[in-house]
Amino acid sequence: MARKRRIKGSGTIAKWNKKLELKRRALLSGRGGEDVRSFPKIDIHRARRWELQKGVKNSIRFPFALIVLGAVATFANIAEADLGSLRVLFLGHSSSHHNSNLYYPILRDALTPKLIEFEYATTVDSLNTENLKKFDAVLLFANHGKISPEQFSALNEFVESGHGFVPVHCASACFGSSPDFIKLVGGRFKSHKSGVFRASIVLPNHPVMAGFSEFETWDETYVHADHNTQGRTILMERVEGDLREPWTWVREQGKGRVFYTASGHDERTWNDPGFQKLLFNGIVWSVGEPRRTEWESMRKK
Ligand SMILES: [Zn+2]
Repeated sequence: MARKRRIKGSGTIAKWNKKLELKRRALLSGRGGEDVRSFPKIDIHRARRWELQKGVKNSIRFPFALIVLGAVATFANIAEADLGSLRVLFLGHSSSHHNSNLYYPILRDALTPKLIEFEYATTVDSLNTENLKKFDAVLLFANHGKISPEQFSALNEFVESGHGFVPVHCASACFGSSPDFIKLVGGRFKSHKSGVFRASIVLPNHPVMAGFSEFETWDETYVHADHNTQGRTILMERVEGDLREPWTWVREQGKGRVFYTASGHDERTWNDPGFQKLLFNGIVWSVGEPRRTEWESMRKK
């Protein structure tokens, strides 16, 4: 009797699983290139076997209803994360100096609950037009020396067509052979010492400064060269004697937006909630309209 019920239940569950698979594909159909295999398949059969092993009799309806409810909730979460989160490509590298392999998870864990969804890459190959279609912004924290003309074009067109670019700290030392890349960032790293300091806010009314407070941390005292003041607005400076070094700035280029901060050498800064808030504000500002409004409405739900 129990065996008969099990076979009957499995058939019904299999049908439901097929329906769920179709629904999952439908949800993803609006996101070209998404890999459905990245979503976990709901193993209803296993759950059912567990119930039977526990000796629960006449248990088809109740656990089945629970599983269906769980599945519906899972799809609701997938839909919200997929359609609502800002999608950011974090381009790091494999070096332990400026250890993006360690610092990326710190930022991911801090910002994912705030509907910022990251994908992590370590090679410049990820800067190609097809891959960038998946993202609202690119965050760069790495020491990459070379960028091909095609890769720079992909990044530049991505920005100028209305997306965000968030170079952090050593990103201003990347691709020194590409003057256009330095122009895009807004300046180039020149030299540094180090110490504990607090960079000063100079434009408190800018949206990127909303809810942000200056923070003190050990970091490298970057000095920049090749400043591109076109479309650039300085938000923070590091003041040392007579020196007022541009520290955090934003740029507009084409329809796109760039946010840069010189902070971020190591975990002392990446773990600082002030730094995390600064990057959060910078990412949100960089993606521009109408994406930001769409995302803000999703956060209120
Ligand atoms: Zn550094």
